[in-house]
This record gives sequence, C-alpha cells and structure tokens, in this order.
Amino acid sequence: MHDHLGEDVLLRCKGWEQEGLLRLFRNSLDPEVAEYPEELIVYGGTGRAARDGTSVAQIEERLMQLENDQTLLIQSGKPVGVFTTSPLAPRVIMAGSLLVPAYSDEETFRRLERRGLTAYGQSTASCWAYIGVQGVLEGTANTYGEIARRHFGGSLRGRWVLTSGLGGMSSAQPLGVEYNGGVVLVVEVDETRVSRRLRHSLCQVKASNLDEGLMLVQRAVARKEPCSVALVGNAAEVYQEILSRSLLPDVVTDQTAAHDLLYGYIPPGISFNEAIQLRSADPEKYLEFSRRGIVQHVKAMVEFMRRGAVVFDYGNNIRQQAARAGYPEALEIPGFVSAYLREYFCAGRGPFRWVALSGKPEDIYTIDEAILQEFEDNTGIAGWIKFVQARIPFQGLPARICWLNLEQRVRLVHIITEFLREGKLAAPVALTRDHMGSIASPWRETEKMPDGSDAIADWPVLGGLLNAVSGASLVSIQQGGGVGIGHSVHSGMTVIVDGSDLAAEKAARVTYSDVGMCILRHADAGYASARQMAVKYGLLSH
Ligand code: NAD
Repeated sequence: MHDHLGEDVLLRCKGWEQEGLLRLFRNSLDPEVAEYPEELIVYGGTGRAARDGTSVAQIEERLMQLENDQTLLIQSGKPVGVFTTSPLAPRVIMAGSLLVPAYSDEETFRRLERRGLTAYGQSTASCWAYIGVQGVLEGTANTYGEIARRHFGGSLRGRWVLTSGLGGMSSAQPLGVEYNGGVVLVVEVDETRVSRRLRHSLCQVKASNLDEGLMLVQRAVARKEPCSVALVGNAAEVYQEILSRSLLPDVVTDQTAAHDLLYGYIPPGISFNEAIQLRSADPEKYLEFSRRGIVQHVKAMVEFMRRGAVVFDYGNNIRQQAARAGYPEALEIPGFVSAYLREYFCAGRGPFRWVALSGKPEDIYTIDEAILQEFEDNTGIAGWIKFVQARIPFQGLPARICWLNLEQRVRLVHIITEFLREGKLAAPVALTRDHMGSIASPWRETEKMPDGSDAIADWPVLGGLLNAVSGASLVSIQQGGGVGIGHSVHSGMTVIVDGSDLAAEKAARVTYSDVGMCILRHADAGYASARQMAVKYGLLSH
C-alpha cells in the first residue's frame, strides 16, 4: 500500500478525480509523510486517514471502481456506500468524528472509538489533504511575522523564541522563526522525532543538554543570526528550569499535541518510555499526571508573560486544558488567530496548497516559476516561494503551500489548467487547503469574534455544503481538529484540475465559493475589512 507514487501517471481509476483522491489518500499514509503510518496516524496526536486496515483496503477498492457520476460516502474513515449522483457532484463526501453536541466530549468519543465506531480525523488527516510539515509552514511564518511587526519593529533578528513539539505540524516552528530572522529553542520529548526533523533539515542543531541549548541560543542572539536548536526534554520541566534561572525568552509558546492529554501529551516527572507504558497500563493515572503536568507547564508560560515575554497559545488548546485542570489564569494567554492572523481571513487570504499528482517535483517547479513571474511585484509571495524552494524538502507527493487571496487563487487555477492543456505538467494537480478559514473553533479560529458568535458552527457546515454544490472533488465536514473533540467544527475540500473544461469550471467556482465563505463569515461577524471585500465580490444577501 505504501508504494512510492513516483513516476506513475497511469490511471488505476475511471477518472482523474478518483485517481487524484486515491493518490492523496495513499500519500497521507506514505511513511515519508505520516508520523505513524502503521497505525494510520498522519499527524496531530491521533489524526487518522482511515478507520482501520479494512477501511484502507475498501477505500482504495471503491475509489478504483467508482464511476464518473458516482459519489463515495465515508463515515469517520470508513467507506459506507456509493450513490449515483452526477459528474458535477463530488466523487467523495465525508463526515468525520462528529457526535451529537450534548455527547461531544473526549470520554464519549474515545469509548466509541474503542468500539470501532468512529475515528479522530484531526483537520487535514482524514480528508487526505496533509502534505507534511510544509502544510502549516507559511501560517507559522506569518504568525511569527506578525509578532515581529507588532512587538519587535518588524524582525525577530536578535530575539529568541521558546517553544515545544517537533511533530507533524509543530516542526514547522523552527523554519517559521528562522524565516523572520529569529532564534528558537524547541523542546521535544521524543528523541526519534528530533532525529527525523534534523534529517529533513527542518531544525539546524540538537543540543545535548539545556546548558548547551541555552549557550547556542545566546550565541546566535548575540550575533543576530537565525538559528534553530532542538532539545530533548519535557517542556513542562524545561520551561520551569529556564524560569528558575531567571532567563526571559522574547516569545514563548507551545505546540505539543496538548489537545489530547492521553495520546498527544507526555506528562513531566516520568521518562518518555515510562509514559508510553503507563498510558496503556493505567490510562486514568496517565490522565491525572497529564492534567497536573499541563498546569505546571502553563503556569510557567503565564509567569513568562508576567515577566514581559510575548506569550500565546498556538492552537493546541493548552489554555483550556490547564483551565479545566484547575488553573483558570491560563485563559489570560491570548490565542494566535485572534491576536495575529484574523485580518488575513477577513481579506480572504489563507493557506492554499497544490499537489503534483504525477509525483514529479518538476511540476511544482514549473508552477513556482509561473507564480514568480505572475506575482513578481508581490515580495511576500515571491520571497516565500524562493524560501521554500531553498529550505523545504518535499515529503511524499511534491506540493506547495502559499497564502493567496481569491483573485490569486482563481488566476492560479487558470494557469494550471493552461499548463495541463499545453502539456507542461506531467499529470493533473490537486488543489486543497487547510481548514483555517472554514472552521468554528471558539479557542482558535473564531475566538473573540466581535459579535460574540465564536461558538456558532453553522458556517463551516454551510461552507462544506456550498463546496459540494459548487463541484469540489471531495468535501468533508468534521469536528475536533486542532483543539480536540467538542471544541471545533470544520470543513475540508479538494478539487482536482485535469485540464478539462469541466474541471476548470468546477475549480474556479469552488475557489470562489470557498474563499467567499471565509470573507462572508468575517463580514457577518462585524469586521469592516471583510465587509468591504464581501461588497466588492457581491457576496452579501442583505
Ligand atoms: P504531533 O502529535 O505530530 O506532535 C506533537 C509533539 O509534541 C510530539 O512529537 C510529542 O512527542 C511532543 N510532546 C508531547 N508532549 C510533550 C511534552 N510534555 N514536552 C515536549 N514535547 C512533547 O502533533 P502536531 O501535528 O505537531 O500538532 C501539535 C499540536 O498543534 C496539536 O494539538 C495540533 O492539533 C495543533 N495544531 C496547530 C496548528 C496551528 O496552525 N497552530 C496546526 C495544526 C495542528
């Protein structure tokens, strides 16, 4: 199943929509891409691409049999049926991790998951849109870029960031900080993850202990050189130790998978291996340790904030976890979207990604070249493309992510279609995105909406339905991504562009609908900038 997709451009399915989705599905579970492919875990704690081994085989088989006017239904990672619909309809629709609201808690979910009835899909894991660390890299770079602008005169040069986690998404942090000129110390408890990131050049050096880590950081800060240092350790313990030495980082955050205190977070006070054993031997005790640890961890973050560091929650719900464990002061820490990224979404600008289904890097480089020419005046876009070309290795299928607005995305759909018609690309391309603009998440993307609509979950459902009727190749509606079960509802979409008129028409319409929904949601919440965009694009019904 994990054969490398490489050079293969032969169709195994009855159309490119099905074929593209099959390749994306396999790509999600490629050992170069997924964190624990043998457990079907792609990233983000236990974010899975499929329910179980049987579902994997059935998804592949169904996709290969699927006609061009049929739709495959997937319920939390398990294929459950095929309906005849229309060539305009999606080839795959999914609902994932959803529970009736009153039952939507971690404990109920885990009980149902143990019985094989559901699976945790994170955000892009279950809808097969995960492309590896690059997927969140520009979002991370933009977050640190905003921090640099707001607090440090536009650059992180000569500043240091303390953070943790070198997992699927969290390992975008070192490059995200370096992109802004800063120095970062990343604490990761699992040594194998540190080695993997060093191998992929996502982090520059590994310190053998805290003293060495701090020495490397201080040296790079003094020289004002970008630098990333990984330290094997438990973040709760290391943060406290740094505090006790009266050292003050300029910025402090955390990106352990703290949204899941059982499978995503390693408590302090015990070794990594002891924690893994305890988790299966006595999950209740493990959770008790985790709750105590998360309080210790977040107390240190709050203390850094009180001493003057810029501290923020990086989308893993660590504040809520600590507050629920008995430390309400945790909620004083601001969240990264409301603090730094909201205006991007008001402008309809967000993470957009394209994947070369041929498996050939040249297809991505050809599109890169077009972007560099098309947007040469836009230093943000051109600079970004050059940076990722130089620094980011492809994982699995070659892919690119770039934060683009509506017009830029529509233009890109047109360029890719033209390239396919002219034979400049070896095979069709999948267009997809993160769930950041299509999500209800009161402790992340929709925190502090001006009209108080943080917990209203109608928007991502409307977004998913709209993408389906607009002609996306895959549409998913899920819950629990980023911040854990019960805390978010979100929707994913993918559209395959193959050079045909129909695919081009569908891709242009979906792009418009998808970005339009993001603008509309923010306009409705009361953001003047989003309202101006909504008026410009004629999106408002009143
Ligand atoms: P992951 O499970 O792949 O990696 C988490 C890492 O944290 C692991 O390597 C783990 O060993 C490490 N870790 C756990 N406890 C630790 C501790 N006490 N000290 C040090 N290291 C510890 O998850 P991921 O994909 O990297 O995502 C991390 C978190 O960020 C998740 O909660 C996810 O939902 C969230 N997330 C945020 C964004 C964003 O844009 N901000 C995007 C995606 C995911």
